Amino acid sequence: MCGIFGYVGNEQSVPIVVGSALKSLEYRGYDSWGIVWREADRLKTIKRIGRVPTTFTFEAISRTAVGHTRWATHGGVTDANAHPHLDSTGRIAIVHNGIVENVAELRAHLSSTTRFASETDTETIAHLLGERVSSGDTIVEALRAVFPMLKGQNAVIAIDQHEEVIAAAMNVSPLVIGTGVQGAFISSDPFALAGKAETMVIAPNHAVVRLDANGVTAFGYDGRELPLPDSHPVPDVSPDELGDFSHFMAKEMADQPAMLMAQADDMGTVARLVERIDSAQSVVLTGCGSAFYAARIGATWLTTISGKRAIAVAASEFDEVSPFLDNQTLVIAITQSGETADILEAMRSAKAHDCPVVTLVNVVHSSAARLADDVFALMAGRERSVLATKSMVAMLGRLLSVASLSGKSAIEDTHRLTEAALAMEDLAGSPKFTAFVSTVSTVIAGSEHVYVIGKGDGYGVAQEAALKIKEASYVHAEAFAAGELKHGAIALIEPGTPCLVFATDRRFQTDTGLSAQELKSRGGYTIAIGLDIGDSADARLVLPDLGPANALLHVFVAQHIAFTVALLRNLDPDFPRNLAKSVTVK
Ligand code: GLU
Repeated sequence: MCGIFGYVGNEQSVPIVVGSALKSLEYRGYDSWGIVWREADRLKTIKRIGRVPTTFTFEAISRTAVGHTRWATHGGVTDANAHPHLDSTGRIAIVHNGIVENVAELRAHLSSTTRFASETDTETIAHLLGERVSSGDTIVEALRAVFPMLKGQNAVIAIDQHEEVIAAAMNVSPLVIGTGVQGAFISSDPFALAGKAETMVIAPNHAVVRLDANGVTAFGYDGRELPLPDSHPVPDVSPDELGDFSHFMAKEMADQPAMLMAQADDMGTVARLVERIDSAQSVVLTGCGSAFYAARIGATWLTTISGKRAIAVAASEFDEVSPFLDNQTLVIAITQSGETADILEAMRSAKAHDCPVVTLVNVVHSSAARLADDVFALMAGRERSVLATKSMVAMLGRLLSVASLSGKSAIEDTHRLTEAALAMEDLAGSPKFTAFVSTVSTVIAGSEHVYVIGKGDGYGVAQEAALKIKEASYVHAEAFAAGELKHGAIALIEPGTPCLVFATDRRFQTDTGLSAQELKSRGGYTIAIGLDIGDSADARLVLPDLGPANALLHVFVAQHIAFTVALLRNLDPDFPRNLAKSVTVK
């Protein structure tokens, strides 16, 4: 997982072209960054740990340059492990996305005198390419020979100090090629091409592409020229303006009511998905992280509202359900980026079992969209903060609409989204809400642990709340099904331990209230959110009852708490440590 960007063409300022692209790819990894460029037939590199700078202190003009933002898998976060990596002679430089699963075996192909300058798996690829180029291969020929030796989902871009050429190859891990009057570009996502290239194609799998100032050619590993896929215009992205917001997370939380309104106006997409669900015997929803919690809540709704046989499974645990899959089981893969390796693997596994596979996805030009039989857009708009907020609520919005229209419910109920949107707007403008968030966030920010409970769809809400608090603030937050608490976890409650209680479903109002009482009796600082479960909690936010749409509103509250705790702990919620937005490694 990382951001890759390269260009070959007119002479341009490397910091402006590659540096600015890396800044927009930073959501894919931000341990360290690096750039390599050709200058007077030599390679020059710069690499540093930490975030991609907004301004660069070096100047360089070049016709060929390649950059990388890293999310470490092999070797710590150090300058030496940052990409690019060079071969022993310094003639070849590469950047790499992925994991070379057979790296130990490949090292055995190298001469025993090869000296390694880093702990990465990537450097082995550089040395393998270097050996081939030294024995007469061009960089494209070398990559054609070396890339098929790599096991795993990888993308590699390589340059040679002697050629104005970029060679690139990918296996599942995505690369997009852009062309225009300024030359040829290659990038991990289409957005980084905006303003640089006019048209784009997705780099084909099992091929090596050659970019030079005149354009792009693709070759099979055997050297035969291959046709390139159809080209598309580069998406027009509005500049990422924060406006009056301090962080993208704040902006994206504020975008949610308008986004739900837009979803409510797009029931055509929902109707198509409903048709798919109604014609299947059962449904498996799968996702990772927040998308998995959306899947869980969605499965609860499909079961309880539509009467459909539905389960959720984490994409990384998809093997648990695959023995029971068949062509009557609809698999719904839920993903923001559409590039998450675990999701793509789950989709391939479902296809191998003959399941119809659809995706509920935000980035509609993604690998998940290409793999799926049908694509349902989330319509969340571009999400820049690494923490999922509006994409999560967009998943819930779509799933709620689908559950409201499918199976035994089959009643047109589009008001749920509108009601949730209006309630979010009311909350955002309410001083009482601001005061509540500030009080409970201060307690959480000063604590080592926080426990979160809920029941029914409220359990999924609790899980999402705990995840958001962990990611944004590094406070240890753990979610439990409310009724499970007494079976063990209650041993963790000490006087003053903050405990968030989400009461989402009126069927469980009493039960959830009893669980809250049990926490309170052990000295927990109880924070009751949602339906009225009595006045004994230490802090309470009673919210209007919107039926199943409560989950959307309660997630909104959890986001505000997580965001405020992060600020109180002087952390940047847009770029939490160790994370990346699009996890393209297993
Ligand atoms: N496996 C490589 C490394 O650890 C690449 C990681 C990435 O995709 O950023 O450096």
